[in-house]
Amino acid sequence: MFENLTKRIRDAVDRLRGRGRISEEELKSTLREIRRALIDADVNLEVARAFVQKVEAEALGQKVLESLTPAEQILSLVYEALTEALGGEASQPALRSEGNLWFLVGLQGSGKTTTAAKLARYYKEKGRRPLLVAADTQRPAAREQLRILGEKVGVPVLEVADREPPEVTQRRIQEAVRQGARDLVLVDTAGRLQIDEALMEELARLKRVLQPTETLLVLDAMTGQEALSVARAFDEKIGVSGLVLTKLDGDARGGAALSARHVTGKPIYFVGVSERPEGLEAFYPDRMASRILGMGDLATLAEKVKALQVEEAPKKAKELSLEDFLAQLKQVKRLGSFSELLALLPGLPKEMRNLSVDDRALARLEAILLSMTPEERKNPRILNGSRRKRIARGSGTTVQEVNRLLKSFEEARDLAKRLEKTKGRGFFRR
Ligand code: GDP
Repeated sequence: MFENLTKRIRDAVDRLRGRGRISEEELKSTLREIRRALIDADVNLEVARAFVQKVEAEALGQKVLESLTPAEQILSLVYEALTEALGGEASQPALRSEGNLWFLVGLQGSGKTTTAAKLARYYKEKGRRPLLVAADTQRPAAREQLRILGEKVGVPVLEVADREPPEVTQRRIQEAVRQGARDLVLVDTAGRLQIDEALMEELARLKRVLQPTETLLVLDAMTGQEALSVARAFDEKIGVSGLVLTKLDGDARGGAALSARHVTGKPIYFVGVSERPEGLEAFYPDRMASRILGMGDLATLAEKVKALQVEEAPKKAKELSLEDFLAQLKQVKRLGSFSELLALLPGLPKEMRNLSVDDRALARLEAILLSMTPEERKNPRILNGSRRKRIARGSGTTVQEVNRLLKSFEEARDLAKRLEKTKGRGFFRR
């Protein structure tokens, strides 16, 4: 469902890949593109704006502009912001050992009845004893549908009669719960094609009598922003405790899913991912964010990047030594090997895939640095010909490689000195 959004966010961020420092303008234009992608995916305008503002503030605060890896850092910020927009921590409806009665409300066609059966199956698998209640007092066809689905998932279905008063329904439910030792009652309520007063009143009345412990609003993600005004109306009239978004397997643009939490203030409990009874997933904001970004496991990557952002006092360029170089190398290694990182990023462009070579290059650099004495690392000027030969032998490399490392270190330090004059920032961040 999020393919297009995924591609556009990735393209925007990938343009910064392999770059050192980026300018504030580049950061802003990347974020502008992300905002446009969100809006085109039908994300609520205000949500998109707030989202991008947050990422920008974080990026500037975390000095992404001076980062070694701006693309990765931005992606990690976008991931965190997405997770938060989707609700942060995962939440699930409250489930006591018994006496659970959940309402499923929503418009006709939203997937309410299907979801009731899916939930029955989901909790049955977890060892619960659900009871389904077909409580549409006006549409026998809706009750019939639930009866069939109940049979399919092996959960009993209590059908209300035409125009049955709520008090009668309540008594019948209590009876069925006692007889069947049922600990979770799932009530599939009446739906309409549109919100109307009669429906809301009927639901409100049933709710007053049955006193559900949770009221789950079922929303069709394919209906986009429309779903959100439906949500607001239901919450005002009935009161909603959490959301189920259905048809996430469809080709909707995903905006409703992304805005639902922000617009309604209600957690997303579950998502529907197919028509089949097993097509229901508990909702995890972080995993959904990973999916939207086309990541294998960005959660892990984000942690790694965070771990890398240890505070180090900025140094003056002239104080920099190979000791700093070694320390920096070790930090990069803490991220894991490049090939390992790539495995976390299945959506990576192909030109980035072939980086196994760089693992070895890093290992050689480190070997050279480790073959030096601390004194030599602190003061590379003492590295004469015979010391260089010794280091090459000790590290299993060549004198040319040792020379190359020393030369690039000197060049980098010179550059740092020049930069220091203009900007006054440390150099190893590059
Ligand atoms: P209700 O009127 O709200 O009870 O909606 P139904 O449960 O009858 O569902 C309406 C249609 O949506 C049916 O054809 C369902 O099979 C389909 N549906 C429900 N949930 C999903 C879902 O998560 N994915 C897909 N692809 N179809 C779904």
